[in-house]
Amino acid sequence: MELTRCTGCMELIPEGEVRYAFDEAYCERCFDDRFTYCCQCDRLLSREDVQWDRDGDPYCSECFEEENDDESPDNPEVYDADRQLIVELSRGFLAGRLMKRSLIKINKNDILLTKLRDKIGIVEHPVYVYGLIDREEYQLSVSSNFIDDVKEYILLNGLGWKVNPDSGVNRIGVSLSLRKNNLEEVTQLIIQTTRSKILCAV
Ligand SMILES: [Zn+2]
Ligand SMILES: [Zn+2]
Repeated sequence: MELTRCTGCMELIPEGEVRYAFDEAYCERCFDDRFTYCCQCDRLLSREDVQWDRDGDPYCSECFEEENDDESPDNPEVYDADRQLIVELSRGFLAGRLMKRSLIKINKNDILLTKLRDKIGIVEHPVYVYGLIDREEYQLSVSSNFIDDVKEYILLNGLGWKVNPDSGVNRIGVSLSLRKNNLEEVTQLIIQTTRSKILCAV
């Protein structure tokens, strides 16, 4: 079997697990540590270059500015600081009242995730779902804003999957074996936990 070396941790990665960023090969863990995708245009971004919005969605600088422009008042008399405050306030207002209905965000190179996205359809809360390699220690990696709901869902449904905290927001990592063998359960878990999130937020 052909092996590639990860640019991050220098470990050998089996074929099929290699993820590419700016022409360099990474293992899944290093890739997710260093990169993400713009939630608007799906452009690959280094985590240092990401602009996070109030919902914790990653944006490239172009899309971020576009979003900001849409919500900025057009009055040239407003000073920059005031403008920022108004933008902040209106973003908070919008975030609290509007449901951000969208498809889940995924790495489209992963055929299993593409299937998952099709099965899930429109979700009420944006979430980035990514692939994990199989590990003994856990099968899901979940950001703090979803982790309680995910754990509760797993418990109530007797799934017995182990969950690891993910450092970001709006992120759910799913192990390869779950993606392969439990697509239906994972679909329901994501639909249910992202839905309950919205009920809490309103
Ligand atoms: Zn690595
Ligand atoms: Zn973008």
